[in-house]
This record gives sequence, structure tokens and C-alpha cells, in this order.
Amino acid sequence: MSMAEGPGAWALVLHGGAKEIAPEKEQANRDGCLDALAAGVAVLRSGGSAMDAVEAAIRVLEDDPTFNAGRGSVRNADGEVEMDAAVMDGATLDVGGVAAIRQVRHPVTVARLMLRDTPTLLVADGARRFAQAHGAEFCEAANLEVPSEDAAHDTVGCIALDMRGNLAAGTSTGGLEGCLPGRVGDSPLPGCGLYADNAAGAVAFSGDGESISRSMLAARVMQSLETVPPQDAADAAIARLSRVGGEAGGIVLDHIGRVGWAHNSAHFAVGIATSRDGRPRAYLRKREETAHD
Ligand code: ASP
Repeated sequence: MSMAEGPGAWALVLHGGAKEIAPEKEQANRDGCLDALAAGVAVLRSGGSAMDAVEAAIRVLEDDPTFNAGRGSVRNADGEVEMDAAVMDGATLDVGGVAAIRQVRHPVTVARLMLRDTPTLLVADGARRFAQAHGAEFCEAANLEVPSEDAAHDTVGCIALDMRGNLAAGTSTGGLEGCLPGRVGDSPLPGCGLYADNAAGAVAFSGDGESISRSMLAARVMQSLETVPPQDAADAAIARLSRVGGEAGGIVLDHIGRVGWAHNSAHFAVGIATSRDGRPRAYLRKREETAHD
């Protein structure tokens, strides 16, 4: 298990989705994770906040058409891109989320802008109007990449621990390809697709949003972290999915920077960097980690 224990320790874990990755896409997934790790780690190394690191890493993933978020977002049944994103601050338990938002370049940044506001979640036109009022960057629908045909289940997420001991979590997604317009999955829902609490840890999920929500996977992980290490918490959450079925992957950090991750999808693109390990790593399957470490 990677860890970052000790004073001034930091850790950042991100994912590019629980999905099946075609062999010709493997390198793009690894490279995309490493690029996003670099952006997040630069923030943490210079003493920046976990929230800034999460936002910086997710913005890189949103700009990379390899991933189903921002530019690479999949289209719904009407051929439209509607995106969901959320961030959570583990120090204050503040949450900011947007759902079914259109044409913003960085949904995670709009979610971040909502962080200190109420409500915690704005959808569709309400989210778009909030983004406009707060000067968020917009782009034409035509500038969003048309996803490749095998795009599926590849939401992005990031969790981080900063040198001051603060945790943050974030998610961003184009949802599920061909879904009903207005459909919202787990990604912007605290306790389902993400959660962060300095007292326990941080978590982010990807996969079948309805199954993740119905199983409250993020909440399950947070509860498990009271008694077991992050890897066990991640494994237990994925095991819970068997009750309703579905595929998912989850990344977990505890409050001292220990890392866990698990998936029941064929692949799960994950990037990990901690102050203790130094070297950022990207994996596409859990078994690669044990083979390499
Ligand atoms: N969990 C996301 C959703 O259901 C999809 C994904 O992870 O790719 O919207």
C-alpha cells in the first residue's frame, strides 16, 4: 500500500474511469493520468491546498479527450453533452456540485465556485446561469470532442491530502453515453460518487452511477475507514455492488495519506503520487500495482 505518513506528508490519487480500455488507448490513458498527476502534485509540493490540487488535476483530465469529462464528454440520447461535477472540502464538509450543465469548459471549476455557497447542487439551466454569473469559461458544443465509439464509464475523479492535513475530493463526468437527457448519476452526489472528511479520509468513484448511488458507495467507504485501512475499505465497497450489480472503481485516501483502490471493471485508469513514494505512477489494472511494487 502506498502511503504518505508523517508531518508535511501529502498524497494525490486520481482516476480516469472504470471501463474497458482498448489496447490502442492504453498509453493515452496512462499519459493522461500522469499529466494530471503532475499538475496536482505541483500544487501540493509547493504547499498548496488539497482543493487547489484536486481542481488543477481534474482540469487537465477535462481538457484531455481521452476521458469522459469536459472535452471528451459522451453524448446523451439527444446527442447533447450534459456534464456533472462536484468537489468536497474535508476541512469544512462544504460541497459544490453541478449537474446536467452544458457548454462550460471546466465543470469542476463551476463546482468549486459553488463550494462556499448554498445550495450544494445546481442543475441544468440553473447551473449554467450560476456559471455565467461567476465568469466561468464557456465553449461551443461543437468544440467538445465527439467521443470514440468505445467511450463508456470513464468519469474522472481526484482525491488529495495536503501538507496541512486537509483532504479534498472531486469528480467530473459526461455521464453515460446515450442516457436520458437530464439523467444525473453518482458523480455530483456526496456519499455516492465522492466524499471528503479530514477526520477520516476521501473517496471518489467511477462506474455505473445508478448502482453506485443505490449502494451509497462513498458513504460505505467513509464508514469503513473508521475501522479498516483504505485498501480494505475500497475492496469492501466494490464487493457491495454485487447486491445490485454493476461495474465501478474507487480511489480512497485516509487522513494520514494511505492509499487504497479497487475495481470490478476490466480496467481502471489510476494515478498515484505521495510524498513518501515521490515517483508518480499510473496503472490500468489493480494487478499491475502488485506486479510493479
Ligand atoms: N459514474 C458516472 C455516471 O454514472 C459514469 C462514469 O463513471 O463513467 O454518470
